[in-house]
Amino acid sequence: MNGKFLTVAIVGSGPAGCYTAQFLRKELPNAEITIFEKLPVPYGLIRYGIAPDHQGTKNITAQFDRMFTRDGVNFAGNVNIGVSITEQELLDTFDVVVAATGLYKDRLLKIPGDTQKQVIGAGKFLRTLNTYPEWDLEHTQQNTLSPHQPLGEHIAIVGNGNVAMDVIRLITKNDSELESSDINDNALKAYSTHQVKQIDVIGRSSISAAKFDISMLREISKLSNVQFLVQGVDADEKCPAYDLFEENTKSRVHSSLTPILVNFIFNASPLSISRVNEKLNFSIQHNQTENIEDIQCDTIITAIGFERENSSEIATYSKVYPVGWANRGPIGTVAENRRDAKTVVMSICSDLSAGKFSTEKPGFYKIKNKLGSDIVDFEQWKKIERYELLSATANRCRKKIMSISKMLDVARNQPNLNLFKHSA
Ligand SMILES: Cc1cc2nc3c(=O)[nH]c(=O)nc-3n(C[C@H](O)[C@H](O)[C@H](O)COP(=O)(O)OP(=O)(O)OC[C@H]3O[C@@H](n4cnc5c(N)ncnc54)[C@H](O)[C@@H]3O)c2cc1C
Repeated sequence: MNGKFLTVAIVGSGPAGCYTAQFLRKELPNAEITIFEKLPVPYGLIRYGIAPDHQGTKNITAQFDRMFTRDGVNFAGNVNIGVSITEQELLDTFDVVVAATGLYKDRLLKIPGDTQKQVIGAGKFLRTLNTYPEWDLEHTQQNTLSPHQPLGEHIAIVGNGNVAMDVIRLITKNDSELESSDINDNALKAYSTHQVKQIDVIGRSSISAAKFDISMLREISKLSNVQFLVQGVDADEKCPAYDLFEENTKSRVHSSLTPILVNFIFNASPLSISRVNEKLNFSIQHNQTENIEDIQCDTIITAIGFERENSSEIATYSKVYPVGWANRGPIGTVAENRRDAKTVVMSICSDLSAGKFSTEKPGFYKIKNKLGSDIVDFEQWKKIERYELLSATANRCRKKIMSISKMLDVARNQPNLNLFKHSA
């Protein structure tokens, strides 16, 4: 099968979209493949979810870059499917449409009081520290930092998976521990993370069933200023996490620093949130004893997963192939989208062989003719990237552009910048 004349649109340039393009290119060398992305910049949660101090994990983009520069996959940034062009137009223009649109919205706790403004989603928190142009997208205003509130001294995190671990780590790291990251310093300042003294981490599961990777917990335990506390654990429930908690508790006894207390509460369920003066009263139930505890805190960060923003997104269309988080829900790492992408490509190939769709639709040139210079291509993204790398302040590896209008300005008007500015 060589896929001649087949035109494929992939909506979303996160890992699921990129892996799908990689497998498609391998299976159908002559197919025309275009990845549409609503932002001017690619890579979805690799850029805006994965924590800014985990640059090694973000580096996977280097292998995706090659797909655009060497393997003839088109990047069409700044094209929001459903806004810039309709879903139907896309279906009329491409033989195959794949939805790799991810899941953007933090799941709500669904308990009384969960919409208070001091209750924020971990996805949103991570996006802010990753300089996501949220304010632009939500308010169509530019060059303004979203008005983030200081977190206060005492916060509660609901959920104890790896995203919760990211939140804890980014709040408890000191300046030198954040060196070489590309964290947004203005956001850190606005959240006043340095003022946090206690973090309660509430999870429904037992310690041995908790979803965090032990390596993520270990990374936090090694930080200079963290003291673990543990509640809701049976003495006989030995597991690697239990040992790590014990180790941390012992090693901190003689420390001269005032540590940030990270208090893991296992086997506990959130009940309700109410506002008492400036504080939140967060009621939780300890499942083993059925006792109810009221935690007075300043901010609650929810890390309990993600959901679809609206039920009519392109991923829900019957003629579209969903992949990645848009297909299987908010589960799994970057690499796990690879398996999913392979399955989707195999089913596209078998549908093509079975004659389930024709290979005659016009493809990318039609959209290009319509949207013209609104589209940000891969070369232009590389200009944005070079600008960000050259703008990095001391101790940071890059300074991401905050506003979409600035990204577009750099993409369209900046000359190609020389990355090696100091070497001349
Ligand atoms: C906070 C957080 C931290 C994480 N940390 C790690 C980690 O350290 N290591 C790890 O392996 N995994 C991590 N993950 C998981 C990993 O990010 C996901 O497995 C992966 O990103 C899912 O890929 P995706 O392509 O399905 O979705 P996404 O990465 O979300 O990509 C979806 C893309 O589609 C675009 N899009 C959406 N709608 C449209 C539209 N209408 N038109 C055009 N484009 C559109 C979006 O802008 C986005 O770029 C983390 C996830 C989160 C939320």
